Amino acid sequence: MNEKAIMALADENIMNTYKRFPIVLVKGLGQKVWDVEGKEYLDFVSGIAVCSLGHSHPQVVAAVKQQAEKLTHVSNLYYTEPQARLAKKLVDNSFADKVFFCNSGAEANEAAIKLARKYAHEYLGENKFELITMKDSFHGRTMATITATGQEKFQFGFTPLLEGFTYVPFNDLGALESAITEKTCGIMLEPIQGEGGVNIPEAQYLAAVREMCDRHNILLIADEVQTGMGRTGRLFAYEHSGIAPDIMTLAKALGNGFPVGAMLATNKIARAFSPGNHASTFGGNPLAMAAANATLDTIMQEGLLNVCRERGEYFLASLRKLQVRHKIIKEVRGMGLMIACALTIEGADIVNECLKKGLLINCTGGKTLRFVPPLIISQQDVNLAVAILDEVMEGK
Ligand SMILES: *Cc1c(COP(=O)(O)O)cnc(C)c1O
Repeated sequence: MNEKAIMALADENIMNTYKRFPIVLVKGLGQKVWDVEGKEYLDFVSGIAVCSLGHSHPQVVAAVKQQAEKLTHVSNLYYTEPQARLAKKLVDNSFADKVFFCNSGAEANEAAIKLARKYAHEYLGENKFELITMKDSFHGRTMATITATGQEKFQFGFTPLLEGFTYVPFNDLGALESAITEKTCGIMLEPIQGEGGVNIPEAQYLAAVREMCDRHNILLIADEVQTGMGRTGRLFAYEHSGIAPDIMTLAKALGNGFPVGAMLATNKIARAFSPGNHASTFGGNPLAMAAANATLDTIMQEGLLNVCRERGEYFLASLRKLQVRHKIIKEVRGMGLMIACALTIEGADIVNECLKKGLLINCTGGKTLRFVPPLIISQQDVNLAVAILDEVMEGK
């Protein structure tokens, strides 16, 4: 089928929930993807911070192939080895003692919200159920997670929302402290806000939030669905702050493109769940676990956290040079390879022109260009992307 026919078939039969770019992608390898017409693109979107090892990474492909031939799915009525192995690796490499597996970021956050409520119900008292979340946050598209998301545009038309959520501005300790009541059971935040525009809090913010949680005996939930798995130059972004959350959620890059999510917690919190409290048919299925095991192993074996930090610094420095040449760049910010350019103008035209020139980037909140390339990109890839941006921004 040609490009036009595929797009028409999709538009006719798929619900109208996405505004898509008018290209049809058919192949990916490393940091590149190709469309059905054979045009090549440098991919600085990575399926929205998902394919951190690049497309079709050989180790992940081999693991999925081998597992598919052996055992794909049996449900959680039984034990399987790939699930046990991944749980052990995540526990060994994080603050957490226990893992619950699911299939997406929203599901991981649903599980986190349920665990926080269950823990509070069992150990803190009947009336502690409220969660404080941040304005401009993003936690997913289910009913509980749009409620947790502090952006009205995601909630509009879907009321009534879930009870028990309040919102405060990110990076505002005073507002957070005043929002805590005797009903509060936890604070949920992204260590760096992703969809909200790559918003990085002040250096001491997370540590102060941790201290506040301890003082009020409430839980800290870190949504690391986007920041996790090496994106910011550490395996998990909370590590930059020297503190640890009580609960953490992962998804996006966990399986390098295979749909998989996880919710992690300390033993103290995890003990609130017992058999029957929460479940997922597909959660932790051998195929997803094979992909995630291979992904985590590759990040470690190839030293990608260091590569990410180095390449991120280089990319930031290159964008700051670009900022000197283009007045439309208001601010350049980022950590590791989670990087943004805040513009004075709408970003849509720039994104479209980059696409025409063979560079995939995306835009959050209208005026912020976001770059989340694979962690394996080279300096040349960065140079090429910056050169395309330079051309596109000329005269704007
Ligand atoms: C993408 C994202 C989610 C939602 O993940 P889905 O897999 O789309 O459900 C939740 N939280 C954060 C921080 C995200 O970036």
